[in-house]
Amino acid sequence: MREHTIAAIPADGIGPEVIDAGTRVLASLEKRMGDVRFHVETFDWGSDYYRKHGVMMPADGLETLRKFDAIYFGAVGAPDVPDHITLWGLRLPICQGFDQYANVRPTKILPGITPPLRNCGPGDLDWVIVRENSEGEYSGHGGRAHKGLPEEVGTEVAIFTRVGVTRIMRYAFTLAQSRPRKLLTVVTKSNAQRHGMVMWDEIAAEVAEEFPDVSWDKMLVDAMTVRMTLKPQSLDTIVATNLHADILSDLAGALAGSLGVAPTANIDPQRRFPSMFEPIHGSAFDITGKGIANPVATFWTAAQMLDHLGEQDASARLMRAVERVTGNGILTPDVGGTATTKEVTDAVIDAIHSSNV
Ligand code: NAD
Ligand code: MN
Repeated sequence: MREHTIAAIPADGIGPEVIDAGTRVLASLEKRMGDVRFHVETFDWGSDYYRKHGVMMPADGLETLRKFDAIYFGAVGAPDVPDHITLWGLRLPICQGFDQYANVRPTKILPGITPPLRNCGPGDLDWVIVRENSEGEYSGHGGRAHKGLPEEVGTEVAIFTRVGVTRIMRYAFTLAQSRPRKLLTVVTKSNAQRHGMVMWDEIAAEVAEEFPDVSWDKMLVDAMTVRMTLKPQSLDTIVATNLHADILSDLAGALAGSLGVAPTANIDPQRRFPSMFEPIHGSAFDITGKGIANPVATFWTAAQMLDHLGEQDASARLMRAVERVTGNGILTPDVGGTATTKEVTDAVIDAIHSSNV
């Protein structure tokens, strides 16, 4: 029996609704596969914890998580707690503390989902966005001077290091090489930002030498939004900075039909620490408690987690089950259906147990 320990942090808003659906699906995979065990322990960290204790997680939170094989994360964000507190109090400390420098965001159009673009169906849009997840624009450097005065100045400093850019570039080229089309697009804004961004371009060219079988090109981030929308077929693997990829991957999720189907993995490729798996979306307080949150992103990221844990068969079975269910039109309202979170989850569990999935 193979065993994996998973720390679940459902956190805020629809986070608990989708993580609950995800842990049910993991339990059904355990039954179906028969040779693997997932020991899921759930932590009550997040905005409720903050209201009680003044912090999003306990001081020894990272030490606690460190013992797990993977982290399964819901979402943070609450109407009455500032976003920079929820984000910097829980999600970013985990990403940065565990040096999860590669943020991997696959996007494709699932069967049964009508994307917003005309003439675009499954097969036309099949991307993986690799987001630099440890530095760049979210390094936390910067400050404010003369606060509140007319002459106030705020700086938000983007930090790019040779080590940081080289390792994400190698990760992206390696990933592109593993995909059938072996195609990588490197995104920057090196026309207007002429220091760190030019360094990105230079390091991309250097790392490319190590991957002669990968074709690669460069795009400026603004032009990239146009290419994603008008020529989705021309893209495959994409690498971009922390901020640029954050924005591009929300666009990618929307182009694939909904943020509710977009997953993400925060990976420590060196496997020194647990990696973290989550849907891209936030806590979605506009639909919290209504039972209609789309659980597909949370299932898809569970498949990413299973892959990372070496459970490729379970991962592939889960994705086939999800595609069967979306293909059968069992969809939540965000992707044009009428099903509830529970109905989608039950259908995925049925498909996992079905003999021809
Ligand atoms: P959001 O992703 O929570 O919601 C954006 C829109 O998409 C909403 O209309 C929402 O209903 C819809 N949506 C999102 N996920 C869905 C799902 N699974 N099923 C159906 N519809 C879904 O983004 P927001 O509204 O900008 O932010 C809400 C809160 O979440 C804020 O506090 C924000 O800071 C936080 N946030 C957290 C994360 C994270 O934890 N990783 C990411 C983004 C936003
Ligand atoms: Mn985002």
